[in-house]
Amino acid sequence: MTIDRIEHIKSLVRPVPDFPKPGILFRDITPMLAEPRAFNATLDIVAEEFAGQRIDAIVGIESRGFIFGASLASRMAVGFVPARKPGKLPVAVERVEYALEYGTDALEMHRDSLGAGRRVLVVDDVIATGGTAWAACELVRRLKAEPVAVACVIELTFLPGRGRVAPVPLFTVVQY
Ligand code: AMP
Repeated sequence: MTIDRIEHIKSLVRPVPDFPKPGILFRDITPMLAEPRAFNATLDIVAEEFAGQRIDAIVGIESRGFIFGASLASRMAVGFVPARKPGKLPVAVERVEYALEYGTDALEMHRDSLGAGRRVLVVDDVIATGGTAWAACELVRRLKAEPVAVACVIELTFLPGRGRVAPVPLFTVVQY
């Protein structure tokens, strides 16, 4: 049953107050990753959601998006493409900056990693304000591909992430 699977996953997401800074309630997925039934159920739920759609590639966002994105790509038999923090990728990159609470951050992708007509699923662990997922979608668009949806394990619904990635649809497994 889906409700049971979701409750099991949720029970293994550990809330950590004041990490990485005061006032932030960090949602720690490491207990869930360590429990194969819950980790597999998470991947199953996302794979089931997109089973009826053509997906050509998964873009995973550094670094926890790599864990889910690469596993999902293997399960869905599509390619995996990393969206990385600046300076990590070795050949020509496209770069998108996005606003943080204080200052800006950026993501980069290899310019040759996607291409016209590719239908892409963007994957991360948590969506909060949505700036990170928006930047990944924007990179996909700049590489002439199409962000079909964003899939995250956890959605913080009191923050504007869903609106930030719109009109790209957002699918999430558990919500707080
Ligand atoms: P945002 O760009 O605000 O949607 O933030 C999303 C990124 O920050 C994701 O890559 C998450 O891994 C991380 N993140 C933001 N808030 C949290 C949180 N409360 N717990 C865990 N990770 C978070």
